[in-house]
Amino acid sequence: MSTILFNEIVFGPIKSRRLGISLGVNLLPLHGKWCNFDCLYCECGFNKDGKADKKLPTVQEVKESLILKLRDHDHTIGKIDTITFSGNGEPTLHPNFSEIIKITLELRDMYAKEAKVSVLTNGSMIDKPLVAEALLSVDNSIIKIDSAFNKTVNLIDRPLYNYSIDKLIENLKIFKGEFVLQTMFLRGELDGVAIDNSTQEEVEAWYRVVEKIEPREIMIYTIDRETPLEGLKKVSVEQMEKIAHPLREKGYKVSISG
Ligand code: SF4
Repeated sequence: MSTILFNEIVFGPIKSRRLGISLGVNLLPLHGKWCNFDCLYCECGFNKDGKADKKLPTVQEVKESLILKLRDHDHTIGKIDTITFSGNGEPTLHPNFSEIIKITLELRDMYAKEAKVSVLTNGSMIDKPLVAEALLSVDNSIIKIDSAFNKTVNLIDRPLYNYSIDKLIENLKIFKGEFVLQTMFLRGELDGVAIDNSTQEEVEAWYRVVEKIEPREIMIYTIDRETPLEGLKKVSVEQMEKIAHPLREKGYKVSISG
């Protein structure tokens, strides 16, 4: 099993499957992982294997790294489509997340006016007013919901706290649909328990969540490379097309990455 840790605060730009030319920002440790989920498919590996480094970058370090990358970007790969907060864990856990977002928006306006600012988040911190405010201020808040069932989320995403889909739906109300829903579809098995969030029962319940939260865009995708849990299986593009179809019929914008 190979995992990817981003050993820089600002990395890339890289060509992202879903976001185009993306300049990544990692607010987590450079040589470790910090997340309050422990997803079976996390490209950064399992939490237990990422504890060696706990040091978070400071606001000043993030600012300086961003200025250097934005100012010196040579455009050979193309112009930056998005500045994306992702990295080695959950970006909203950084204690200065909202301040860093403010600075990033200012730097974007100075150096890369056309770039979007995106945040990939598991949504665990949106009940914190400063985090919610920061997520509302960026162009793309991309929020993960992998199942409508707490039991399945506990199997696949393994939150380290008492996760409640109902609470998350309630907390999402303040976004008034101004966010992107991101869902990973996969199959596998853990300790003899089958995992499949693409069954009819799962997908129908997930549709009901979509109808409640009404995201302006939906990204569905499947595993792309090795995962910390071996043996996870992709869901085919054909099946994801079928999953997307009724939502597209209702006018939702749905993108698929297989
Ligand atoms: S929420 Fe994201 S960073 Fe955290 S474990 Fe899951 S995939 Fe990894």
